Amino acid sequence: MVKCPRCGADVSPEKTWQVISPLPDAYGRITITVLGSFKCPSCGYSWRGRVSAIKVGPEGEVTFGEGKKTRRKDEASREKREGKVIEVDISDILEEE
Ligand SMILES: [Zn+2]
Repeated sequence: MVKCPRCGADVSPEKTWQVISPLPDAYGRITITVLGSFKCPSCGYSWRGRVSAIKVGPEGEVTFGEGKKTRRKDEASREKREGKVIEVDISDILEEE
């Protein structure tokens, strides 16, 4: 949930999408940023913003947000080794938060 910048109500994203950084960081991790479009049901204000960020490491470890949670994701690991685009189920991510 994200708070409305205008009235502070809790708002769920209407739509989400991912932006994958093409360059790995110093640890070889690729950052996947999840963006969303929001519309506040309380005041009607609409905006776009970051929902969460995920870092996927070279061994397939997945870090959410600021590194609070880490879990192994074998699928992502396998796909990365093959040089393919990593796909993460958005609904799965949202449920975890
Ligand atoms: Zn609002």
